[in-house]
Amino acid sequence: MSSNHAATQISDLVTANHILANEGVFDGFGHVSLRHDQNPERFWIARSMAPSLVTAEDIVECDFEGVVHDSQGRKSYLERFIHCAIFKARPDVMAIIHSHSPAIIPFGVTGARLRPICHMSGFLGSTTPVFEIRDTVGETSDMLIRNHALGEALAQTLGGHAVALLRGHGNVVVGHSIKQAVFRAIYTESNARLQAQAMQMGEPVFLSEDEARNSDETNSGQIERPWQLWKSKLSGDPQA
Ligand code: MN
Repeated sequence: MSSNHAATQISDLVTANHILANEGVFDGFGHVSLRHDQNPERFWIARSMAPSLVTAEDIVECDFEGVVHDSQGRKSYLERFIHCAIFKARPDVMAIIHSHSPAIIPFGVTGARLRPICHMSGFLGSTTPVFEIRDTVGETSDMLIRNHALGEALAQTLGGHAVALLRGHGNVVVGHSIKQAVFRAIYTESNARLQAQAMQMGEPVFLSEDEARNSDETNSGQIERPWQLWKSKLSGDPQA
């Protein structure tokens, strides 16, 4: 394994944790993972802790069974099954973010579907699927994706989409790179705020399927620019 390569991946993963916390996607909760570039059946993720406090030393390696391979025996997040199932189902996905990003919650609990309101969120496509946990375990769960069956059901709801909402819980966002996943998580939250505002004023005109796909293609070449901005806002952060 190229250790320099791994160091870059881990450094980007730490930065992603800090950016997502700083931009209001994460609070004390939420997690981001990155597929291992030398071993595609494993991924990196932080041990169970608040994202803004994550350092390179806190990153552990997890396999698709949910087993954490850590010489110190540290544990990762209870909801790591989200990452196991999606990485397994989607070979194109390199990074996954699960958050309780607040503005999207209303869209998971009402008939109002999250749809792209502006060109920055074209990756949402024509509509955003909602995962209903009751379809798998009835009405008595604690809402968490705490096992493989729930992870797999969520991955099935996500299908080929970039984003799925979890009713009464949060969302999951995937990307072909960690920078793209961060971009999408931040613009999913901003799209939800804008869409809620627009819906108070009248009937919004959403991007068409073609407009959404074409904007996503254009924006995919521009993700380095906001990443540098968001990173620069982490002033005084030794990991930034
Ligand atoms: Mn959660």
